[in-house]
Amino acid sequence: MTSASEFFRDRERPAFPKRAVVTAGMPYGNKDLHFGHIGGVFIFADVYARFLRDRLGEDNVLFVSGTDCYGSPIVADHVRKVEDGEFSGTLEEFAGSNHQRQTETLNAYSIGLSAFAASAMEPYQPIHADLGAMIMRQLFENGHLKKRTTLQFYDTERETYLNGRQVLGRCPIQGCKSEKAYADECSLGHQYEPKELVAPRSALTDNTPEMRDVTNWYLPLEGFRPAMQPWLTEQLESGAWREFSVQSALEYFEEPTIHVKQDLMEEVEKLVDQLPTHRREEGNAKSERLIFESLEVMDQAKAILTEAGIRYRTGKALVPFRLTGNLEWGLPAPELEETKDLTFWVWPESLWAPISFVATILQQRGEPIENWRDWWCSKDAMAYQFIGKDNLFYYGVAEMAMFLGMQGEDYSADAPEGQIQLPTIVANRHLLFLDKKASSSGKIKPPMATELLDHYTSDQLRIHFLSLNLGNRNLSFRPKPLDPRATEGGGDPVLKDGNVLSNSLNHSVRSCFYTTQKYLDGKLPVGIPSEDLRRESEAAILDFEAAMARREFHTAVGIGGDYIRSINSRWSQSQPYKDECPDDARVQALVDAFHGVRVAIAMMHPVAPDGTERVREFLRVGPELWSWDRIFEPLSAFVEDPNDHQLEFLPPRVDFFEKHESQFKKK
Ligand SMILES: [Zn+2]
Repeated sequence: MTSASEFFRDRERPAFPKRAVVTAGMPYGNKDLHFGHIGGVFIFADVYARFLRDRLGEDNVLFVSGTDCYGSPIVADHVRKVEDGEFSGTLEEFAGSNHQRQTETLNAYSIGLSAFAASAMEPYQPIHADLGAMIMRQLFENGHLKKRTTLQFYDTERETYLNGRQVLGRCPIQGCKSEKAYADECSLGHQYEPKELVAPRSALTDNTPEMRDVTNWYLPLEGFRPAMQPWLTEQLESGAWREFSVQSALEYFEEPTIHVKQDLMEEVEKLVDQLPTHRREEGNAKSERLIFESLEVMDQAKAILTEAGIRYRTGKALVPFRLTGNLEWGLPAPELEETKDLTFWVWPESLWAPISFVATILQQRGEPIENWRDWWCSKDAMAYQFIGKDNLFYYGVAEMAMFLGMQGEDYSADAPEGQIQLPTIVANRHLLFLDKKASSSGKIKPPMATELLDHYTSDQLRIHFLSLNLGNRNLSFRPKPLDPRATEGGGDPVLKDGNVLSNSLNHSVRSCFYTTQKYLDGKLPVGIPSEDLRRESEAAILDFEAAMARREFHTAVGIGGDYIRSINSRWSQSQPYKDECPDDARVQALVDAFHGVRVAIAMMHPVAPDGTERVREFLRVGPELWSWDRIFEPLSAFVEDPNDHQLEFLPPRVDFFEKHESQFKKK
């Protein structure tokens, strides 16, 4: 039972599920984590998971992610690194060493995952494969899968099919600004048919590859339109998903469209008798939009245009979602009908990976694997999936269709009890570096996550990234030590946000302890916090809770920061640290200051877990201090004898929220 507010009893509190799974998009297994993984996804997911642990109870939250091990890029990187002498060992060992370093980086940022798994490694892989087989069979039996024979790139010199990043070319999507495009998707996540890729070449030999027939299983997404489109719109109206993310997902539901440059339209006119029925609209950038009633009809038109040598691009569309491929380094797919030796394509497999990881955690805890359903298939539970904008098609569209299709031939977006409940997608916009889009494969290289810890503490970086309103806008990370345009006297945006902890909150806590040690023998001051402070604290707590429920992290952090500044100004006004302060006024000021610290560290516990835990230890109270069931209770409620509670002795010059050693260096 949640303790009640004293002053705001009528205020409506946000609803939370009984159990929650939090997932962070899986980092790919060929690289170390860069600032975007940590600052664009993991910190947000971690803070939400930590908040939910405080809010719902530790046992009611699972936070999972893992290294995405399979797929063609890691195979290509492994081959190259072995050739260059940068790595010696098997592909599995290569993935394993990258996974190990990713794990260490996440630990260095205090990312408190229930498990940081790996899709190709024990103990996760066997459960992941079983679950994949179950999902695929279920989709097949429910009549949602289609076999499709398509053309796949084939390198005749190497005598091998080329997958994903083994083919390079230019993205065929109208207006796309990606730097690289691969066999069937570009670096910005646009999907297309391999034969549409502009100017393809083999990454293995640089030859122009051939196209050969291959048969794979697909989940046609078009059929899910009537269930998904209104459901996505509901997510917009309820605010469960961020506005831009719903709009971006809905773009895939636009009618099948071919874009043709206006100066080529004369050529198109000559084919008007052959082209299937369509309507035309003026498009962007001097182009014309040819809009068709279905993907099949559009495909006919594409074939005709290709035949006539007319260049065109296609828009975002609900293209069938491929489940399988023939890459050896993939999760084994079950045999259905006559298809053999197929593996799962890496994208669909990574969509159920969080379920596999939850199942594995439960098994490791001695529970039946099937208990994963308590976390994914119950009306009492909700999954919150933190991702970057570029992956919205997969999580926001393909995953939803996959989960819907598992229900049966018929399905409902309001999934019945016992069926996978559609998750809440929490997408961030782009985190830029010095105003540019940085990526490991692009021209501007992102700073690595571990490198940032040479300049800042993890708490400083955590609160800085949270303060960026990435839920609404693309924003730039501009750390002064890495910014060539920074001026000597100019401020550092990271430190500005970090100072809330390393200056303000640090000051609040130290003042309490040192003053108590000087005047009250280091004992918790006895008394009731003053009414105006109790009211202010409750308002801050409720505002903070509401912001967290909406996953508006910059707002929540701002509420915490304002509150900390307020308790500090209260402190300097009452001056309890002065000898001339009357004893009763001093005790009241200290009671208030400790209450302020109690409320501030409860709000900041998810943001700065290490520093706030240190404060709790010095207060000598148990971890129940963090429980939101008791969020309105003062410190005295957490100690055995409120009239005689000895605090831990705080030696001089101890910091709870430290600065980085580099920040003390003399100029
Ligand atoms: Zn593209």
